[in-house]
Amino acid sequence: MIDVTGLTKFYGPIRALEDVSFSIKSGEIVGLLGPNGAGKTTFLKILTGYLQPDEGTVLVDGLDVQEHTREVQSRVGYLPETAPLYPELSTQGYLQMIAALRLIPEEDRQRLISEAVYATGLEEHLTRPIGQLSKGFRQRVGLAQAILHKPKLLIFDEPTVGLDPTQIVEIRNLIRRLSKHSTVLFSTHILSEVEALCDRAIILINGRVEADARMAELAATSDAILVLQRPVSDARATLSKMALAQTVTSFQSSDGYPALRVHGKPNAASALTPAIYDLARQNGWPVRELRRDVRTLESVFNALALGPEAAEVAA
Ligand code: ATP
Repeated sequence: MIDVTGLTKFYGPIRALEDVSFSIKSGEIVGLLGPNGAGKTTFLKILTGYLQPDEGTVLVDGLDVQEHTREVQSRVGYLPETAPLYPELSTQGYLQMIAALRLIPEEDRQRLISEAVYATGLEEHLTRPIGQLSKGFRQRVGLAQAILHKPKLLIFDEPTVGLDPTQIVEIRNLIRRLSKHSTVLFSTHILSEVEALCDRAIILINGRVEADARMAELAATSDAILVLQRPVSDARATLSKMALAQTVTSFQSSDGYPALRVHGKPNAASALTPAIYDLARQNGWPVRELRRDVRTLESVFNALALGPEAAEVAA
C-alpha cells in the first residue's frame, strides 16, 4: 500500500528527513514513533502530497504521490495534527462541504455522511456548530471527514494529542474499528498507544528510520543482563562472539557494578541466558547477577532516542 524509497527533505539548512525507506502492506496498522522534531509530520505531509521531497519517491497503492497527487489523495483519508474544521459550521454542514470538495456524486453523499457519522458516534451532534463541541468530539468530526470517501489508506498525525483519558480510549477504539477496512498509519510519541493499536512500529530519530519492529517479534526477542563483581577485560568481546548474540553493550549497574547487556538474535529468547551462564562459568567470571530482560517498545525506543547507556539509567 505504501512504498517509500530514499526520501530526503530539507527546510533550508535543516534536514528533516534523511534517506527514509520502508514499505507498508495493505491491512497493516503501523505507528510512526519519534521524539519531537524527528520528522513525523514532514513525512506524513509528503505522503499525502502536501509537501514535495528533495529526493526519493513515495508510492501509494502503486501511484507516485508527486505525479498522481489527486488520485493518491482520493485514496487517502488524512487527519492532520490540527484538523481543518470550521467552527461556525455544524457537523452536518461541514461533512456536506467535504463531500462536495471530494467530488462525491450527489446521490451517494447522504449515505456516506450517515455511515461516517455512525462510525464516529456523532449522531447526537449533527446540528451544533463544531466550535461548541468538546475537543474529543471535534476530533471525531476530523476523523469523520477522513473516512467519508471510504479511503484505502488512513493517515492520522497524533490523533489523540490533547484529549482526556476517556476520549483517548474512545478514539483508539474507533481507530481499531476503522483498521478493519483500511490500512492505517499514524504518528505519535505515546509508546503505549502503539503497543495498544499497532502490528508494527517504525521509529524515526533525527529524520532517519532507526527501527522497524513488529510487536510480535519484539515480544519474541529478549536481552540478557550480566552484572560482574569487578571488570573483566575480555567479557564483552567473548560475549559478542556467541552465536545467539546480536549486540553487546556495556554500562554501569544502578549499584555501580560493571554490567553488560546482550541483545539476542530473533528467537534466541529462552536459550540466551543459559548460554551466557555456561560461558561465564567456563571463563571463571565473577558473576554478581544474570537475568533475562524482555524487550519492550519502550526499551527499544529509549536505547535509540537516549543512547544505550542513558537508556539503562532510564530503565
Ligand atoms: P513533533 O512530534 O514535535 O510534531 P515531528 O516528528 O512531527 O515533531 P517535524 O515537524 O516533521 O517533526 O519536524 C522535523 C524537523 O523539521 C524539525 O527540526 C523542525 O524544526 C523542522 N521543520 C518542520 N517544519 C518546518 C518548516 N516549515 N520550516 C523549517 N523547519 C521546519
